[in-house]
Amino acid sequence: MILVYAETFEGKISDVTFELLRKARELGDEIWTVVIGNAEIEGLGASDKVIHVEGERFNNPALHRYVLRKLIEKYKPKKILIGNTPIGIDLALGIMPTLVSCVDLDSKAKVVSYGGKVFVEVEFEGIYLINRGSFEPLKVDGEVEVEKVSIDVDKEIELLDVIKPEVDVDITKADVVVGVGRGAQNIVDLAEDLAESLGGVVGASRPLVDQGILPPSRQVGRSGRTISPKLYLALGISGAMEHVEGVKAKNVIAINKDRKAPIFRISRYGVVGDVEEIVPLLLERLR
Ligand SMILES: Cc1cc2nc3c(=O)[nH]c(=O)nc-3n(C[C@H](O)[C@H](O)[C@H](O)COP(=O)(O)OP(=O)(O)OC[C@H]3O[C@@H](n4cnc5c(N)ncnc54)[C@H](O)[C@@H]3O)c2cc1C
Repeated sequence: MILVYAETFEGKISDVTFELLRKARELGDEIWTVVIGNAEIEGLGASDKVIHVEGERFNNPALHRYVLRKLIEKYKPKKILIGNTPIGIDLALGIMPTLVSCVDLDSKAKVVSYGGKVFVEVEFEGIYLINRGSFEPLKVDGEVEVEKVSIDVDKEIELLDVIKPEVDVDITKADVVVGVGRGAQNIVDLAEDLAESLGGVVGASRPLVDQGILPPSRQVGRSGRTISPKLYLALGISGAMEHVEGVKAKNVIAINKDRKAPIFRISRYGVVGDVEEIVPLLLERLR
């Protein structure tokens, strides 16, 4: 059985969950989706079953790791799919020690619990943190079996405040992304104009985010977002592995003055030249 963790926000299932369901369906195993806290169970029809651990106190994601650990022990999933989001990473790290502290491993992992007094056998292949934008969401409305499960968690973690992330634009949902790299850092304004003329948004390589030129929400790549636009226009981006890992575009067009830049390997069209000369010409033509 594949266990999908449904991330929720303000009582709604988050979009990344539907991406996990798409992948889980492709894997062909039975899918159980876990919803923790009070949330509307909507669009989860691709699951064979929904496990719902209700309760106001479980609206606090800091408690989810304790709930999930108990569910893993109880249901022994083969795989666990979690969104690679701040909540997902925190959760995955929180359930990892269950595995790290195992004392034996064959088809099942023998895990030490309660300070070494109890051994629990856990059988699963792994936890997969899936980047947002990696798969087409699979949202299926309609009836799904919901099992309400009550889990006893003897931890009290107070949720003091929820600070909403400042996401100015969601680059994972854009059809056109104009990527700005170190070679185009002087023409970010022009890149914004270009993105606007093409009905798209601006993304960035990590150095631009590290320098504070663009916010983290714009970063494409391993430690940023995975984008799957129809068109990715890469300006002055070398195409380092960590960057292209986040590019699942149907078409890539790159402009780079180095004809050997690796970005050209994933590009449908390439322009060898200076972005500071080419982008103004392109804008003029588009206008
Ligand atoms: C653990 C880890 C995670 C990482 N995660 C990410 C990530 O999520 N996203 C990411 O982007 N990077 C990530 N990186 C960094 C990555 O390895 C590269 O350093 C980074 O992608 C390079 O960014 P860049 O292409 O903008 O810059 P550079 O590699 O410096 O490339 C600049 C390019 O611009 C070209 N150029 C320069 N001037 C011009 C001009 N006037 N006109 C046209 N072309 C020009 C150059 O020929 C060059 O190809 C990560 C690294 C590590 C170690």
